Amino acid sequence: MTVTSGTRGTVDPDILLDGVQLIGGEWVPSATGRTIDVINPANQHVIARIPRSDENDVEHAVQAAERALPAWRDMSATARGELIFKWAALIDAKGTELDSLESQEVGRPSWGPPGMGRQLRFIAGQADKVHGVSLPTHHPEAVGFTLREPYGVVGAVIPWNAPGPLFAVEVGAAIAAGNTIVIKPAEDAPLTPLALAKLALEVGIPPGVINVVTGYGAEAGAAIPAHPKVRRMAFIGSPETGRIIMAACAQNLTPLHLELGGKSPQVVFSDADLDAAVRGMAWSITLNTGQICAAGSRVVVERSIHQEVVERLAKQMEEITVGPWYEQVTMGPLVNKKQHERVLGYIDIGKESGAELVLGGGVPAGDKFDDGFFVEPTIFDKVDPDMRIAREEIFGPVLSVIPVDDEAEAFEVANGTDYGLVASIWTRDVGRAVRASRALQAGQVGVNSAFGAAAIGAPFGGYKNSGFGRNMGADSVLEWTQVKAVSMSEAGLPRR
Ligand code: NAD
Repeated sequence: MTVTSGTRGTVDPDILLDGVQLIGGEWVPSATGRTIDVINPANQHVIARIPRSDENDVEHAVQAAERALPAWRDMSATARGELIFKWAALIDAKGTELDSLESQEVGRPSWGPPGMGRQLRFIAGQADKVHGVSLPTHHPEAVGFTLREPYGVVGAVIPWNAPGPLFAVEVGAAIAAGNTIVIKPAEDAPLTPLALAKLALEVGIPPGVINVVTGYGAEAGAAIPAHPKVRRMAFIGSPETGRIIMAACAQNLTPLHLELGGKSPQVVFSDADLDAAVRGMAWSITLNTGQICAAGSRVVVERSIHQEVVERLAKQMEEITVGPWYEQVTMGPLVNKKQHERVLGYIDIGKESGAELVLGGGVPAGDKFDDGFFVEPTIFDKVDPDMRIAREEIFGPVLSVIPVDDEAEAFEVANGTDYGLVASIWTRDVGRAVRASRALQAGQVGVNSAFGAAAIGAPFGGYKNSGFGRNMGADSVLEWTQVKAVSMSEAGLPRR
C-alpha cells in the first residue's frame, strides 16, 4: 500500500522502518531501548525514530554475521550473484518509494528512478568472476594457484548525503565476495539503508548476511572498527572521522578503504563549449545542495574568459529554485543544523578574506524557509588559491572562482589542495585534454563532464587526502577478498 501526504511525498509504509534496526534477520530496538529522531530537513518534523545503539548492539550484530558466514561464503558464487540480481530488480520495482524516502531524510528534490539497481547489477555480475591465477612450479608433479577468499565478517560506516547508493555499493561488493557485513548508516539518513536491507531479506539474502546497526558515530560507529572480529573495514565520510576509523583499525591491524572528502576543480579554458561548461559547473555545485563529495567547488578559469564565465555562472545559478524538497524546486535545504552553521560560517570566512561575493551568501527570505536549513546558491569571485574557501571542503552550494593565466598555472592551482577526488576540464583541444588527464591529481577526471560519470564500471575513489581504495568498479569486489597461494603435490617435494 502507498500513502501520500504533502510534506512526506509518497511513502510506502512497508519500507519505512520505525524504531528498529536489522540484526541477524530480526528487526530489533537497541539494547538500551534509546532512540534518535530522524528529521525532515525542510521543516524539522520527525519522520521516524531509529535505535541509538552502542557496542553491545554491534557485538550482537557481529555474532549474527559470524553465524551467517559459513553458508554464505560457501554458497556457489553464481547463486550469490543471482540473489544480488534479484535484490537489484526489487530495488528498481520500488524505485519511486526509495527515491521519495531518500528525499525525505536528505532533503533533496526527487532524482527520479535511483541508480542503485544498476550499480548492484554491475556488482552482481562480478560475483562469479572472482578468480585467482595459476602459478608455474619448480616440479612437473606440483601445481600452484591462488585463491581469492572473503575476509569473513566485515564492517562499514557511511555518511548521510547519498545513503542509498553508498549503502548499495559497499554492501553489494562486500557480500558479492562472500563476506557478511555489519554496517552503520549516518544518524541523519538511516532510513533508506534500512529499507534496502529489508528488500535484501525479501529476495532471500539470508538473515545475518547484512546487519544494519543504527546510532551515533562515537557510539555505534566507533564500535565496528574496534571489534577484533571485524576483519576488514570500509569508511565513507569526512577526513576527520576517516583518521579516527583508521587509527581504530590500526589497533587490530584491520585493512580498510577510505572514501573521504573533495575540493574538486572545474578547469575551464577559452576553447571550451561554454554553454555546456556553465551548465555542468552550476549543476555540479548545487546538486544535493552542494553536499556531494565530488562537487566541483572550485572554478579555475583562464583569465581571458573569466568575466564572461562569472556572469554566465551567476545567471545560471540565479535560476536555481530553492525550497522544501516536496515542492517543485531544484535545490532543497542542507541536511541539518550543523551543516547549516558550517556552510554559513564558510560564507562569512569568504567575505572576511576579501573574496568578491557575486551571488547569494545568505539564507533565502520568506516564511517557508524559517524552519528548514536553507542557504542560497553562492558564488565568490577573485578567490586566492590560498584562501580557506579555496582549500577546505565546504559541503554546500558555494563556488569559488579562481582566475589563472595559462595551462600550467591552471593545473598547478587545480592540484593545489590536499584533496584529489574528482577533477574536470572543459576544453575542445584534444591535446590539452590528454595533458590534463595525466596532470590532474584525482581519482577521476572528467573531460567536458562535471563528475566524469559517463563510464560504466568506473572505479571511484581518491588521491591524496580524499582516501584510498576504489568502489563501484569491478575491482571493488576484489577489494573485499584476500589472496591465498596454494602449492599442491601428491608427496612433499624438495625445493629446487
Ligand atoms: P562524518 O565523517 O561526520 O560521518 C560519516 C559517518 O561516520 C556517519 O555515519 C557518522 O555517524 C560516522 N562517525 C562519526 N564519528 C565517528 C567515529 N568517531 N567513529 C565511527 N564512526 C563515526 O561525515 P558526514 O558529515 O556524514 O559526511 C560528509 C563527508 O563525507 C564529506 O567530507 C564528504 O566529502 C564525505 N563523502 C565522501 C564520499 C566519497 O565517496 N569520497 C561520498 C560521500 C561523502
